[in-house]
Amino acid sequence: MKPFPDHQIHPDLRINSYGHYLRRRFGCRVSKVNVDGGFTCPNRDGSKGTGGCVYCNNVSFSPKATQPVIPIEEQMAQGMAYHRTRLGSEKFIIYFQKYTNTYASLDVLADFYHRALDHPDVLGISVGTRPDALSDEALELLTEIARTRYVCLELGLQSINDDILADINRGHTLDEYLETVQRAAGRNFDICTHLIYGFPGETREGFLKSANLIASLPVDSIKLHQLHAVEGTELARRYFRGEYRPLKIEEYIATAADFLERLPGRVTIQRLYGSAPLDICVAPRWGLKNNQMWYAVVNELKRRGTWQGCRRA
Ligand code: SF4
Repeated sequence: MKPFPDHQIHPDLRINSYGHYLRRRFGCRVSKVNVDGGFTCPNRDGSKGTGGCVYCNNVSFSPKATQPVIPIEEQMAQGMAYHRTRLGSEKFIIYFQKYTNTYASLDVLADFYHRALDHPDVLGISVGTRPDALSDEALELLTEIARTRYVCLELGLQSINDDILADINRGHTLDEYLETVQRAAGRNFDICTHLIYGFPGETREGFLKSANLIASLPVDSIKLHQLHAVEGTELARRYFRGEYRPLKIEEYIATAADFLERLPGRVTIQRLYGSAPLDICVAPRWGLKNNQMWYAVVNELKRRGTWQGCRRA
C-alpha cells in the first residue's frame, strides 16, 4: 500500500529525496563528489560585478580536499574513496561546485568535464553556475554529454524577488534565470535550482511564492538553505552593524516544511541546510550537520502529518 498519493515521496522521509531518486534511476547507491576546477565568477572578477554576492565566501561551502591546484583526478579519487568507505556508494556524480563552473573557454570546460567522466565509476556530472553565465556553446557541450551520460545543471537563483537580488548584489535578475531555464529545458538533463531563505527584508509569504514558481517551471531538483553570514563577507559586516537579523532555527524549519508542502512531488530535494565551519560562521550559529537539519524538517512534516506537495491542488 502506498502511504502517500505520489509514489515518488519516500514513505519515511515524506519528501522526494535526490538520493532516493538516484537510487531509483541507477539501481545503486550514488554519491556526489565535489571537485574544484579552479574557476572564478563573473560577479567577482568585474565582468558582471565585483565583490560577489553579499554572503559569498567560497571557503564556507567547499570541502577542504578540493583545491584547484590538485588535479581533479586526485580530488575525485579522494572523494570517491571517502564515500565508498563511509556510505558504501558504488557510483558517483562529479560535482563542479565552487564559483561558476561554466565560466571558461569551451576547451577548458570540455577538458574538465570529460576528464571527470573518464572514470568507470562516474555516471555523470553536476555543474553549478549562474543564470547569466551559460553560453550557447557551454549549453551545447552539456547537451552533447547528456546524450550518453547523466548531467545536472545547477542554477543559482537564491531569491525570486528582484529587489532582494539587487540588495544582495547577485548581479542577475529573475527574468535572466527564467530565460536560462527555458533555454536549458528539454535537453535530457536535470535542472536544479538553488534557493536561500532568510534575506533581509524577505517575508515568509514572499519566500513561499518561490515554491509556486518552481512548480510552474521544468525544474527537476531543489537545493535550499538558510541565509548565514560567514567571516569576511558583506553580510557579516551588515550583521555587526545590526542590519541583518539572522533567522531563528524554528522559523527556518517551519518555513522549509511550508515550502516543501507547496512543492510538487516530482521535484527532488538535494539539500535543506547550508553548513559553514563554526570557526568562520558568524550568524546564525546553529552548528548542525546537514543530516540533522534534514531530519528536523522531516520530523516537522511528520508532526504536522503532511508531506511534500500535499498543499498542491
Ligand atoms: S555567484 Fe556564487 S561564486 Fe559568484 S559571487 Fe555569488 S555566491 Fe559567490
